[in-house]
Amino acid sequence: MNVPFLDLKTPYLELKEELDAAYQRVMASGWYILGRELEAFEAEFAAYCDTKYCVGVGNGLDALHLILRAMDIGVGDEVIVPANTYIATWLAVSYTGATPVPVEPDETTYNINPLLIESVITEHTKAILAVHLYGQPADMDAINKIAKQYNLKVIEDAAQAHGAKYKGRCTGNLGDAAGFSFYPTKNLGAIGDGGAITTNDAELADKARLLRNYGSRVKYENEIQGFNSRLDELQAAFLRVKLTKLDEWNSRRTLLAETYLKNLKKTANLTLPFVPHWAEPVWHLFVIRHPRRDSLEQHLRQAGVGTLIHYPIPPHLSDAYAASTWQPGSFPLSEKLSREILSIPISPHLTHQQVSEVINILLEDF
Ligand SMILES: *Cc1c(COP(=O)(O)O)cnc(C)c1O
Repeated sequence: MNVPFLDLKTPYLELKEELDAAYQRVMASGWYILGRELEAFEAEFAAYCDTKYCVGVGNGLDALHLILRAMDIGVGDEVIVPANTYIATWLAVSYTGATPVPVEPDETTYNINPLLIESVITEHTKAILAVHLYGQPADMDAINKIAKQYNLKVIEDAAQAHGAKYKGRCTGNLGDAAGFSFYPTKNLGAIGDGGAITTNDAELADKARLLRNYGSRVKYENEIQGFNSRLDELQAAFLRVKLTKLDEWNSRRTLLAETYLKNLKKTANLTLPFVPHWAEPVWHLFVIRHPRRDSLEQHLRQAGVGTLIHYPIPPHLSDAYAASTWQPGSFPLSEKLSREILSIPISPHLTHQQVSEVINILLEDF
């Protein structure tokens, strides 16, 4: 049996009628940038995240970058980031000229360890950029408490966590502002690139709107030196359709995660994801750990099961940050995780047979 890691065609077929209608509607409108579909999506996504404002942008990286710009973070400033994240989190900080300051994760949740944050705060620290990694919310109360004490901004990288909840509250509404990605593989994915900023801060939302559109409110009047990063009408229309399915698809992911957790409990050598009592994750990824990860990956591949590694190279060891002072060994836990983690299929469109197949292979003595 073939179990692909990801399948983007089946979700399209499930929503074909609505997505095709959205396509026809936008095509026939003759209006493709900054129009009614975007306005409607922004209102609908803000309501979904329980925030006052949503600003659609070109992608998740830009969402984070524009938030930092809107907060006037730049050269000479420091922003605390997780050591184990997708490199986009760091790049958003580097884009502004500020310096990413990495902090190791908690070994059970893989999210930034709040106990290690205070020790890296300096007079240059301006913000904490927390990631809800793999779809599980970071410990935001602990992070917000430190931020308040040191007068820092708090930004959520919610690119993997659409719909996740922390102590009953929605991600996207747990800090000063949040960046979402609608890259096709995310829990809420467009048919191309897309992103959004959510916030309750009217001034920040206004600044983000300026920044995404050349610094302009009125055509040809440019108040600041902005960027071009807009969520286009087609993507907004597709996302409006997909948003109506997000909770259902997240529930299917949760069911699959529960099935994995129950059936793989007693497997020697496998470390399963840990969910704190206050977290309602949306299982963007289901990440297991194994001391011989590469052989396990090969074993699964030979059995027809697709897996991926999120992520094989921590940002501090990436060539992109080769000019920095970090070395192998600078963040030992993140480096160890990068050698042991493996993401197994958890798409909402997997069949029961496919999930049983993955479980049976993992239950084999390995
Ligand atoms: C996907 C992702 C991003 C970047 O989103 P893009 O839309 O690809 O720019 C940022 N942070 C995390 C954690 C992500 O998973």
